[in-house]
Amino acid sequence: MIDFKNVLKVVHESQNFFITSHLNPDSDALGSMLGLALGLLEINKNVFLYNRDGVPRILQFMPGSIMINTSFEKIDEFRDVLFILDCSNLYRVGDELAEKFNEIKFCSSITIDHHDTHEGFADISIIDKTASSTGMIVYKLLKSLGVKINKDIATNIYATIVGDTGSFKYSNTTPETLNLAAELMGFGADPESISKNLYENESVNKLQLLSLALLTLEISNNKKIASVSVTESMFKNSCTEREDSEGLINYPRSINGIEVAVLFREEDHNGNSWKISLRSKGDTDVAKIAGLFGGGGHKKAAGCTIDGKLDDVKKKIYSAINKELL
Ligand code: 5GP
Ligand code: MN
Repeated sequence: MIDFKNVLKVVHESQNFFITSHLNPDSDALGSMLGLALGLLEINKNVFLYNRDGVPRILQFMPGSIMINTSFEKIDEFRDVLFILDCSNLYRVGDELAEKFNEIKFCSSITIDHHDTHEGFADISIIDKTASSTGMIVYKLLKSLGVKINKDIATNIYATIVGDTGSFKYSNTTPETLNLAAELMGFGADPESISKNLYENESVNKLQLLSLALLTLEISNNKKIASVSVTESMFKNSCTEREDSEGLINYPRSINGIEVAVLFREEDHNGNSWKISLRSKGDTDVAKIAGLFGGGGHKKAAGCTIDGKLDDVKKKIYSAINKELL
């Protein structure tokens, strides 16, 4: 049982809430923000939602997504409570906002998260590393607050679970996850429509990006590591955005016998910085590997950014993975 006592007190005593989550948001980041915001609105609180990278096209179906701001100019008006969701460290919200927190004093800061590598940086930390998604913890908080769960809230929370469990496929799917998903259906979440929106709503351009990325597929000599790379020129040639690289890692991951899948994504325009996504299909702890390079995440899904040319970055990552595989 999660102890929400301190959070409940703060929420009951406060009126204006600033809610944020990590850059390059996925359905857990956005669904947690939106579920929480819609719940707080139900109990007549004021909310301001900020995400540095805004809402990816594929997640625009999430109810309330129009409320997400990409500028935090109004931060002064929402200084009662800061909620940081699905972030294992403060800088996951983006450097600019993280630095703003040195100037702006919130009455209370609360973080809700489920990452193995959570660093604890707020006044109150609600961390449940066994939760399939951060949204699941948000849902429990809303119920503790006595919020009436409506279809929009249920849809957002359901999307957090589908996203982070890979549609109930990964090892973080528990009996509780399935029970909770059933409960959300009872409140109006529609699995078919949510899955169609998340997985059957791709642009043709995204498939063109996929075809370019698959040409870069590499399998290590020991056949345990598979990777693909996406470059700025691939985005340009397929008329896609960085957000369109979401899900590409599932292709190297899907190969028979692979233990660790890697996606390298160019982060600048001159090939000197690479965002790395890591997925483990076995016992290899990829959060530990990402941690070596200043990143983090979960044992089976993690990420980090490494500066340098792709060949050097690949050598560093492969060598770190191989050490963990032994
Ligand atoms: P993805 O590969 O989908 O971007 O992220 C996989 C998991 O690792 C997510 O839970 C995400 O929050 C976490 N993650 C990705 N990149 C970073 C990073 O640079 N730092 C930290 N701390 N976590 C990350
Ligand atoms: Mn998450």
